This record gives sequence, C-alpha cells and structure tokens, in this order.
Amino acid sequence: MSQAAAGRIRARPRLARLNAGGPESIADGVWVVRGGFPSRTMNVYLVRDGGGVLAFDAGIEAMTASVALAARQLGGLTRIVLGHGHPDHRGVAPGLSDVPVFCHPDEVADAEGDGGMHYFNLSELAPHGRVVLGAMLGAWDGGPVKVAGTVSEGDDVAGFQVVHLPGHAPGLIGLWRPSDRLALVSDTFYTLDPQTGLHGHPRVPHRAFNWDTEVARASIRKLAALEPNTAWAGHANPLTGDVAAQLEHAAATT
Ligand SMILES: [Zn+2]
Repeated sequence: MSQAAAGRIRARPRLARLNAGGPESIADGVWVVRGGFPSRTMNVYLVRDGGGVLAFDAGIEAMTASVALAARQLGGLTRIVLGHGHPDHRGVAPGLSDVPVFCHPDEVADAEGDGGMHYFNLSELAPHGRVVLGAMLGAWDGGPVKVAGTVSEGDDVAGFQVVHLPGHAPGLIGLWRPSDRLALVSDTFYTLDPQTGLHGHPRVPHRAFNWDTEVARASIRKLAALEPNTAWAGHANPLTGDVAAQLEHAAATT
C-alpha cells in the first residue's frame, strides 16, 4: 500500500467524527446543524444563499466551529440572520465576526445588548431550573453582536419570506417558504421543557424567558394560519402532521 493510500485510510475515522455533527439535509436547499449541551437540542439552519449558505439563528458559542465547518462544506457562510437575540440563539455570531448579522428592527437593541436578559424572570422557574438555566445562559452566550442590517415582515431572505412572530422576544422572526410550506421559526414554540429536557407536544415558550407571553400566544396562532407542512423551531425536532391543529391547541391550552 502506498503511503498516500494508508494516509487516506487513517484519515477516514477522523472525517467520520467531523461529519457526525455536520449539516443534515431537511428540505431543498436547507440543512440543520444540531449542537449544544446537554443534549444537542440547539438548531442552527443553513439555507442556500447564492453560492453559499446563510445561517438562520446562531445557536450557542460552543457550536461556532461546527457551524463554520458545515457552512464551508456548503460553499461558505454569506450572512447570519437571527431568529431572535437570546443568548442561546446568537452564540456563534461574535466568533464569526467577518460575517454580517441581520435581525428584525425590534431585536437590534437586545442582540447588541444583554440578549434579552433584562426581561427574563427566572423566579418563574423551579429552584433547580433557576440554578441550572441561570448558569447555562452565561455558558451558552457568545456575547453582544454587531448588527449590520435589519429584515422585516414580508422581506425576501434567500427565497423565504420573513414573518414577524413577536412575544418570546420582541423581534422574533420566522422564515416561511410557501412552495413547500416549510417554516423555520426559532422559539415561536417549544417542544422541549427547558427545565426537564423532556420532549413533548408544542407549547407556548416558558414565561420565564418571554418578553410578552400573550403576544407569543398570538404569534403561534399567526403561524398556525399559514398551515405549514413542517415547522422547525430553535430546539429539538420538527412539527409534522397536522401542524396547524397542534399549534392552535398549544396557543389555547398552555
Ligand atoms: Zn429564546
């Protein structure tokens, strides 16, 4: 065996490890990079954007290398569009400082500031959740972001329409593609209990982290009215099946 061939064989396990956290294709021109601790439930979406990809949402700081690598495999990172500016959604942006960051106008101050922490109310959590999530928020955050520009309701972003879905955060946005009824919606809803890590039905995000819970409820109804085929949120797995009915139920009961 030549030395080069031996090198290729030796390299294979390392590549497999790198690809284990790599981009997972979820729709035409759309990938998800899953990462984060404790259980890889942080989603960063990569969307075909010309010859490269944009990132929708920016996860946590620890995902910086995996997002950069995944984007490089897909032609390079063109821009970052924040679904919202919370610590676990802006994490990789400061470490990729040559990539311009965009968000909704109502989110600029928090993305450039404390990540919305000024309206979080951790006393709404159980005592153990207060301790664990209080520590996690600091560990997840990459810190303040410099916003290069804004996107608003109805704007086109790489073939998706921007939908303003405020409540969890004032400037929370989703991306909506009518051709395949795909919605990428950041934390418009949760399917994961942030205190227990248990997965379940969609629900209104936990009020401890909401700018305005009743407005968040109205935004879930706004998303339901679009009748998505699939809705991917900022954490965990997508909603499929009768998405609108599940969202209406969430808005009405949680
Ligand atoms: Zn959030």
